[in-house]
Amino acid sequence: MIYTDHHVHTSYSPDSEADIKAYLIEAKGLGLDFVMFTDHIDIGTTDELFKERIDYVEYFSRMKHLQEEYDIPIQIGVEIGYEKNHKNEIDEFLEKYPFDFVIASVHYGDGKDFYLGDFFQGKNQSESYLRYFEIVKEMVQDFGNFDVVGHLDYITRYGPFEDKFYEYEVFEDIIDSILVALIQKKKGLELNTSGLRGPLGISFPKEEVLKRYYDLGGRTITLGSDAHFNDHYYAGIVEGMSQLKSLGFNEVSSFTKRIERKIII
Ligand SMILES: [Zn+2]
Ligand SMILES: [Zn+2]
Repeated sequence: MIYTDHHVHTSYSPDSEADIKAYLIEAKGLGLDFVMFTDHIDIGTTDELFKERIDYVEYFSRMKHLQEEYDIPIQIGVEIGYEKNHKNEIDEFLEKYPFDFVIASVHYGDGKDFYLGDFFQGKNQSESYLRYFEIVKEMVQDFGNFDVVGHLDYITRYGPFEDKFYEYEVFEDIIDSILVALIQKKKGLELNTSGLRGPLGISFPKEEVLKRYYDLGGRTITLGSDAHFNDHYYAGIVEGMSQLKSLGFNEVSSFTKRIERKIII
């Protein structure tokens, strides 16, 4: 079995115009067994663009038709943006629809957005990164309704800092506490390959963190390109797979109806 890209945005996401049909054709060409879409739902965002909600009744029905038309199964995942004051609303939303896979991501915190940059105002780099990791930790500890944490350490993509990189050792305690909580709660981590094609040229999370997750006993890991454009579909998945193998992983995870299945790599 060829592993499917587990993090893909379509034109249903407010920040993507990617064509669903083109993804299906691409996936068939790659010989994938199914396609997974994970459009954005950001309940609690401060970014006006992301406040618009997808009509999931229409979404599920359209996907059902498309999978028949293109003769390839479509699994429906979602990337939820976590915000602690909205966690009950997020739970209610997730209960309403039969999602196959839920990625929980932190895109904002303390009422401030990373992408828009207001989160970084009044904080230096290490304060910003530490606060971000604290919010991820809160999410893992206090909110269990997800399968994997999306793009851990993605804060590094948006900070207005000249050198965006960070040393794992500086944040070792908080990162380890996130990884241990994930393992204890039987939740997984995503290897998000979008950074490999960006200016940083590294995975999210960075390799040391993936290795640490492995060393602590973490084995639930999915791979996703975070494509917002058709051209980015499956980008970095093969590379990410080799990266995981080199760190010792011999299986990766896939989810259907929120149930994990291991795939040997
Ligand atoms: Zn995201
Ligand atoms: Zn995404």
